[in-house]
Amino acid sequence: MRNVTELCTQSHLDLLRQIWILKFTFMRRLENNLWIKRNVLIMVIKLQNNFVLVVVVCFLIAVICGTPFPLLAEEPAQQKETITEKQPSKLTKLTIIIRGEALYQEGIHEWAGKAGQLITEWYPKTAALLESDGFKPPSEVTIIFEKMDGVAYTVRDTIHISIDWIKRQPQDFGMVVHELVHIIQSYPARSSPGWVTEGIADYIRHAHYEPNVPLPRINPNKASYRDAYKTTAGFFIWIEKKYDPKFVKKLNAVMRERTYKNTFFEDAAGRNLDDLWKEYTDTFRKENQN
Ligand SMILES: [Zn+2]
Repeated sequence: MRNVTELCTQSHLDLLRQIWILKFTFMRRLENNLWIKRNVLIMVIKLQNNFVLVVVVCFLIAVICGTPFPLLAEEPAQQKETITEKQPSKLTKLTIIIRGEALYQEGIHEWAGKAGQLITEWYPKTAALLESDGFKPPSEVTIIFEKMDGVAYTVRDTIHISIDWIKRQPQDFGMVVHELVHIIQSYPARSSPGWVTEGIADYIRHAHYEPNVPLPRINPNKASYRDAYKTTAGFFIWIEKKYDPKFVKKLNAVMRERTYKNTFFEDAAGRNLDDLWKEYTDTFRKENQN
C-alpha cells in the first residue's frame, strides 16, 4: 500500500468521505493486481468536475470493492455514456507514474505534481483549440517519469518523460504541453507530414502556453517550413495573424481526417505554400537589413 498514493480532488465532501471509506478495500485489491509493481509510484488524480461524474466514480468503486451501494446501483453504464456525450473534451483521469531509479531523483515528485496540474489545466484548452467535428480526444492521460534517452515522447494517451532532461532543464514545462498536444491531436497511425504534426504541437506551446517567450530567429536563407517544431510553429503563427485566425484549427482537422495536401495552404491563405514561406522569410530579411 505504501507504494500507492491516491489523490482525490472534488468539492463534494460527503462523497469524498464515502470514497475515503471505500479506499482501503480498494487499495487491498489494487495491491493484488499485477499492474502494481515494486518500485513504482502511482498517483491517480481523479477529476470530478461535476456532481454526476462523482456519483459514477463512487458507483464504480463500490462495484470493484463489492460493497453494496443501493442508491447508485441503477444503470451505471448508461449514466457514464451520457456524461461522455455531453463533455467530450474533459479530462476524466490523470495517472502519474514515477518508476525505477526516477523514484529517488531529488525534486521529482514536486515536478511531477506540477506537470499533472499543467495537464489538468491545459487539456481542455488544447482540446478546444484543436476541436474538429465529431472528434473526441482520449479522456484519460498517463505520464511516466523514467530514465531514458532523449527528452520525451508520446504514444497514444501516454507521455514518457526523461528524468535526466528534467534535471538539466527544470523549467521546461512547455515540453509537457507539447506532448499533451500529441495526445489531443490523435492523428491516425502513419499520418503525415511529420513537420505539420510537430509544428502544431509547438504552435500550441508558443502561441498559447508561453506567448511571451520569443521564438528563436530563423536564418531566412537556410530555414525551411519542413524544419518542424519552433520554425514551423512561427510560420503558422504568422499565417494566422496575416491570413486566417482559424488556420491551425482547420489544418488540424484535415490532419485528423488524413486528407492533408500542400494545396491546403492555398485554400486557406490564397497563396501556395512556397510563396507563403518566401513572404514569411522576407520579413526576416527586411529585419536583417534594418
Ligand atoms: Zn512532438
